[in-house]
Amino acid sequence: MQTFVTEPVDWPDTAPALREQVRALVAEHGERDPVRRANSWTKAAPQFSRKLGEAGLLGMTWPTEYGGHERSQLERYVVIEELLAAGAPVGAHWIADRQSGPLLLRLGNEELKRRWVPAIARGEAYACIGLSEPGSGSDLASVRTTARRDGDEWIIEGQKVWTTGAHVSHFMIALVRSEAGSERQAGLSQFVIPMDAPGVSVKPIIDLTGAHEFNEVFFEDVRLPASALLGTEGEGWKQATAELSLERSGPERYLSSMVLFLELVRHAQGKDDPVLAQLVGRLAAEAWTLRLMSASVAAKLARGEDPALEATMVKDLGNSYEQAIPQLVQAAVDFGDAEAEVLRAVCFYLLQVSPSFSLRGGTREIIKGIIARGLGLR
Ligand SMILES: Cc1cc2nc3c(=O)[nH]c(=O)nc-3n(C[C@H](O)[C@H](O)[C@H](O)COP(=O)(O)OP(=O)(O)OC[C@H]3O[C@@H](n4cnc5c(N)ncnc54)[C@H](O)[C@@H]3O)c2cc1C
Repeated sequence: MQTFVTEPVDWPDTAPALREQVRALVAEHGERDPVRRANSWTKAAPQFSRKLGEAGLLGMTWPTEYGGHERSQLERYVVIEELLAAGAPVGAHWIADRQSGPLLLRLGNEELKRRWVPAIARGEAYACIGLSEPGSGSDLASVRTTARRDGDEWIIEGQKVWTTGAHVSHFMIALVRSEAGSERQAGLSQFVIPMDAPGVSVKPIIDLTGAHEFNEVFFEDVRLPASALLGTEGEGWKQATAELSLERSGPERYLSSMVLFLELVRHAQGKDDPVLAQLVGRLAAEAWTLRLMSASVAAKLARGEDPALEATMVKDLGNSYEQAIPQLVQAAVDFGDAEAEVLRAVCFYLLQVSPSFSLRGGTREIIKGIIARGLGLR
């Protein structure tokens, strides 16, 4: 039976300088509004993304041939950890830098790689994930959007839903059914769909905080060249599930509420309040443990191992942690206190959005099922 083994992480010598570089950039160009700094990896600010691109902080581990910087996985980890802890508005490029770029480099043909990867590394091209459909969320193998071959072209028809950032994205990597009459995991393929292709339309879904992050995306007779196929026809299921481990392993899975924790520390300072002191201690200890677990996963990835089970555990434990913070703060803080105004605003925002943290990237029940299988329990 495999279990979670943490290990001391050998941080690169360049880490302190990288941390300074990111902190300076965030101080100069980051987001000041404390509410917008919470859950900041969903907040798009293309200008900030371009600044990171100019500073060489996107596509960090990719080959220089495609605009990358050939730095190590742990150097990248240091940068994304700093950005998230500071609540920097990284939403525009986040998906492209985290998973679409690596996927294109691994499976894309030369045309796709040249068209998109250097632009992602410059902070100019953004991507969205086209998995969910009405009726296909957890049960992804039921996708119904189709790709039909017509001579040299593919024709895409159907609909995706809950597509984060589709309205600011330049392309989508979509999982669609490319073999008529196929069922479940068979006959699926991935396509790179430019969002400005004729026949693609995006309709906003406004969430309960009034924010526009989600969308519905419709495909009506969308004609793509043969080169839009990503990887191998019919292998879409395997390709898309490999992509999910990239999606689940990062520190964004426990740092979404970090800005609230930092506001709590600020609020508790100078107050002789044992309840607040105890809460700060508890949240700091848990953050430290999660960071060790998450960094251990990064170290394994850097060695070329595939810690998919550990990554899934970090997502589950991390989601529980970032969902608990707003509830614990609400229970411990007197929001009638005028000094608590900022803390209250951040807390109330997170109370509204945090229920979704354990849905995005795979629901808790599905994640627990994967962990149980990995541990040999089912
Ligand atoms: C903030 C956020 C961002 C998102 N961004 C994107 C995106 O960019 N692109 C994209 O494609 N999708 C995105 N999604 C969609 C997300 O991946 C799906 O919501 C998720 O996979 C669940 O699918 P569903 O909503 O259809 O729920 P369902 O699959 O209908 O599930 C409903 C409930 O039933 C449970 N359930 C379902 N099947 C089982 C089972 N076999 N065993 C036990 N329990 C089960 C689920 O865990 C859940 O609690 C996003 C969602 C959120 C909340």
